[in-house]
Amino acid sequence: MIKKLVKATGAGVCALVFPDKCLGCGKYIKKNADNPLSKCFCHRCLGEVLPVFDHPFCPACGHCFESGPDHLCEACLKTPMVMESVRAAFIYKELIQKALGLFKYQSKLSLARPFERHLFQAFATHFDMNGFHLIVPIPLHVSKAKKRGFNQSYLLVRNFPRLYRDAYGRPAPWCIDIRCLARVRATVSQTGLDHKARKNNLTQAFACPKPDYIQGKNILLVDDVFTTGATCNAAAQTLMNAGAAGVSALVLARA
Ligand SMILES: [Zn+2]
Ligand SMILES: [Zn+2]
Repeated sequence: MIKKLVKATGAGVCALVFPDKCLGCGKYIKKNADNPLSKCFCHRCLGEVLPVFDHPFCPACGHCFESGPDHLCEACLKTPMVMESVRAAFIYKELIQKALGLFKYQSKLSLARPFERHLFQAFATHFDMNGFHLIVPIPLHVSKAKKRGFNQSYLLVRNFPRLYRDAYGRPAPWCIDIRCLARVRATVSQTGLDHKARKNNLTQAFACPKPDYIQGKNILLVDDVFTTGATCNAAAQTLMNAGAAGVSALVLARA
């Protein structure tokens, strides 16, 4: 009886975590083990190919090109970023843009798990995973975190240590840190602002409450979306000013 109850509850929890209906169109889903996002979207909504982030791109900012070899983009040649490199799991368009909107603004948290799998895959593909000491999700200001109820960037990386252990059979060489970077100024939404306005909006938005802790450390910032990069750059600048050795960024989707 108890066993049955546990089993039934387990199935209920499973249905909560992975809905049987497509988040895009509401139709029932046929899951495909090879694609974690097929737990949330039907075959039709997923489309033929996901907009995966791939070569050719700018080795610094990760801006994707239509063709040719990897090369520094004009923006990076003109003004090098604070970050050493930016890489992503997806291009911010089509289904990924829609899914991120559902995740962030409509709290469709069942997307966290498939997103985290894709992000971890991108981490393994594009970075030397052993080259970092800390993984730092971009923090939200406390007022925004309260309103939303969760930090989407943290949800994307919180299981990374377990995923690493499962994949490589040893503890991760880095840890997830949510205390070394703080969002100390509430900023207005970056959406709709141009590059300069975004930069101004983020002036002194971040602070480093524990500078001793990050001295000489290589840090990987994690965010959900990278459009102009103003948020990641401002966070990276704060960490570098406080003594970090280097900062790179891994994002779920890059515009
Ligand atoms: Zn659908
Ligand atoms: Zn670039």
